[in-house]
Parts: sequence; C-alpha cells; structure tokens
Amino acid sequence: MAISIPKITKCSVTECAYNRDNKCHTMAITVGDSHAACDTFFKASHKGGAPGLIASVGACKVEGCRFNIDLECSASGVNVGFHGGHADCQTFSAR
Ligand code: SF4
Repeated sequence: MAISIPKITKCSVTECAYNRDNKCHTMAITVGDSHAACDTFFKASHKGGAPGLIASVGACKVEGCRFNIDLECSASGVNVGFHGGHADCQTFSAR
C-alpha cells in the first residue's frame, strides 16, 4: 500500500531545539522505540532546523500503533506534546 509522509501538524514542546512557534522545523523525526516518544527531541543553546520547513515523520519504530505499516507512519499528520520530561507522539493509537 502506498503511503505519504505525514507532517508534524503541531508540537507543543517549545524547549526543543527544533521547535519554533509550536512547529517542528527539522527535516524529519524518528518516533520510538520503547514507546511513542519523539526520539529527535533535544535541548540546545540555540534553535536549529530550517524556519521555512515543517518536519515529517521519517521513521516510526512503534509497531503497536495502528498507523504503523512496516515501520512507517501512515497517519495523515501527527501531534507531538510534552509528557513526563520527554516528547511523545500524541497521535499514537494502540492496535
Ligand atoms: S520534540 Fe520532536 S517533534 Fe517536537 S520540535 Fe523537537 S524534534 Fe520536533
């Protein structure tokens, strides 16, 4: 089945180096693997990424999500938010 690359519709993790105005500006994030965490999240002394770019989901290692097809995300878009000191994919939905 052909799938398109989902965009990060919103990310409320403003502490992340790639976050500006609740949008993610790296090229692509990786989600997983122990649970649906944004594995690309990190803090830096300055902002990174490209301001004109909205990130996609490059890879998802969470096989227990119903949107996961062959380790790729098939959702139409995903939201990311802060949870317990890290960033989680809030679009995760258990099979
Ligand atoms: S936490 Fe993840 S989705 Fe949010 S801005 Fe950082 S890299 Fe992007």
